[in-house]
Amino acid sequence: MREAGCHGVIFDKDNTLTAPYSDEVHPRLAGSLRRCVETFGAERVAVLSNSAGTPDDPGGVAADALEAALGVHVLRRRHKKPRGIESVQRHFQCDGTALLMVGDRYLTDVVFGNMHGMLTVHTQQLTTEGDNRVAQAMRRAEDWLVARYPPLPSAT
Ligand SMILES: [Mg+2]
Repeated sequence: MREAGCHGVIFDKDNTLTAPYSDEVHPRLAGSLRRCVETFGAERVAVLSNSAGTPDDPGGVAADALEAALGVHVLRRRHKKPRGIESVQRHFQCDGTALLMVGDRYLTDVVFGNMHGMLTVHTQQLTTEGDNRVAQAMRRAEDWLVARYPPLPSAT
């Protein structure tokens, strides 16, 4: 992706890099995150969580802990995905078309990336352990909708 011109990578946190409510990178992904940071540089890899770094995280305590655990920047912002592009632009100093967004949820991660011209990667859920009920219900609804209404063919 870097050789193809990708400027940076944004990861969702819960069920993308870590188990829900954990700050530690999931053991299956530790090597991949390390290689990503080696390839892009730590400044070009960031986490965009809908918990750490949002108003749900007063003082950025969870964001600080997550940064220490993962070794990459956690973007702070006032609005949750699919809003919050300002923090991405400020951090990466570019528009979304040069960025890759990776996440496990369609209506937050993929919609956010698509709204801002990013290449998006939808990942499978890492674990059902600790996933909250609202997230589970939303995931089921999103999966059903995407299966029922697949993307339109590209115009090109
Ligand atoms: Mg997630």
